[in-house]
Amino acid sequence: MDTRQIDAVRDDVARLHAELVRAGLVVWTGGNVSGRVPGTDLFVIKPSGVSYDDLAPENMVVCDLDGRPVPGLPGSERQPSSDTAAHAYVYRQMPEVGGVVHTHSTYAVAWAARGEEIPCVITAMADEFGGPIPVGPFAIIGDDSIGRGIVETLRGHRSRAVLMRNHGPFTIGSSAKDAVKAAVMLEDVARTVHIARQGGDLVPIDPADIDRLYDRYQNVYGQQGDERR
Ligand SMILES: [Zn+2]
Repeated sequence: MDTRQIDAVRDDVARLHAELVRAGLVVWTGGNVSGRVPGTDLFVIKPSGVSYDDLAPENMVVCDLDGRPVPGLPGSERQPSSDTAAHAYVYRQMPEVGGVVHTHSTYAVAWAARGEEIPCVITAMADEFGGPIPVGPFAIIGDDSIGRGIVETLRGHRSRAVLMRNHGPFTIGSSAKDAVKAAVMLEDVARTVHIARQGGDLVPIDPADIDRLYDRYQNVYGQQGDERR
């Protein structure tokens, strides 16, 4: 096995946790980022209960797709994040997913607490998510039920974000970075649409225009050769 590839993902995942803090998406030790090690049945995730100040590549945990730390690989002496089973389920069921993020960011959780999808009423949302942000089922931590809820809601959906009811957002992406981007953009649109509604009725965007915006942003926008996701 090429350990350099594992090391690269541990570096990435450790560094990306700082983005959650920078964007104000997490408090205390909550929230977690994971990234699949390309071409393997492994992913890297944050250890459980470690302060964000102490997160470093050295203490990231390498898990198999059942969410178990792999003996002999870095971090196996540590307990992985309590959300590891949900991340593992997503990686098993959605081979195209390279990264998963979970936070309890305030505005996204507020929508989840109401069990209300976020309607697509701003172009930035059409660009990034291609429509509304869906609500997933109520699920208790401890088995596959959170993972199942994420996969059932997001499979075949344009949105890379799901609001698990009464809980909060999970986002997926082609890489850990892409999933973190989705978590940051999600909180931004959750906040904006919430504030907009305080001032009056929301104005919907025509579904055909949402399609056009999404298509343009996903396929045309940005620098040639950019890492799109
Ligand atoms: Zn949670």
